[in-house]
Amino acid sequence: MTLPGTLNPPALAYRLYQWFWNSLDWLYPPQCAGCETIGYRWCQECQASSPRLPDKLCMSCGTPHKGVRVCEQCQLLPPNYDAVRSWAVFEDPLRKAIVRLKYKRDLGLGEVLARSLIGIMHKIEWQIDMVIPVPLGKTRLSERGYNQAAVLARPLALSLRLQYQPNALHRIRETISQVGLSFSERRENVAGAFEADRSVVAGKRILMVDDVMTTGATLDECAKALKLAGVKQVLGITLARVVE
Ligand SMILES: [Zn+2]
Ligand SMILES: [Zn+2]
Repeated sequence: MTLPGTLNPPALAYRLYQWFWNSLDWLYPPQCAGCETIGYRWCQECQASSPRLPDKLCMSCGTPHKGVRVCEQCQLLPPNYDAVRSWAVFEDPLRKAIVRLKYKRDLGLGEVLARSLIGIMHKIEWQIDMVIPVPLGKTRLSERGYNQAAVLARPLALSLRLQYQPNALHRIRETISQVGLSFSERRENVAGAFEADRSVVAGKRILMVDDVMTTGATLDECAKALKLAGVKQVLGITLARVVE
């Protein structure tokens, strides 16, 4: 494995990024996004009590799976991405933290939660050239003011010393929220919604970053657009995963 940053100390840019958020903590003491303890953005107890995924996973979509290497769903409908992995199950206290990351403009929380993604990236043997967050549509981005996936992806890319390209993939049409939609409705909702910039991504091995994976429809559609633009390999990482 030749993940930059695996053997070397973290890049200076990443240290500065952490230093910036740590200084803000000193000025404005934060409150833990999971349990509301003062003085932490995300405390040790919440980190330790977030339910992790089992070791036996589908090689492709990364969902808990005890049988053969690839789960029934991926055999039936092979995804466009090569593999996706997640840090923990989408349950409290992590669920509370993600809701806060998404709707409360707590950008420093992204830096601390991204450390768990950095941890798994050091364990997984993935060769990556470029990091891209799952993009929001223009309307949602202007309403929210930031993309929660980018808030995770940026420190991850800095720490691993990988190229960060938040504009290499974009939504070419607005989609409705995936919340409450069935598997097939989710696929339909995001079908053809993304477009990648061939001049930036062609021939690269891309790591997509998102906050939560539910059915994987969004990541699959992003991977489809990236592969159409000549990407060699699409891997994905999410902080949380919905496990049925
Ligand atoms: Zn806590
Ligand atoms: Zn699978």
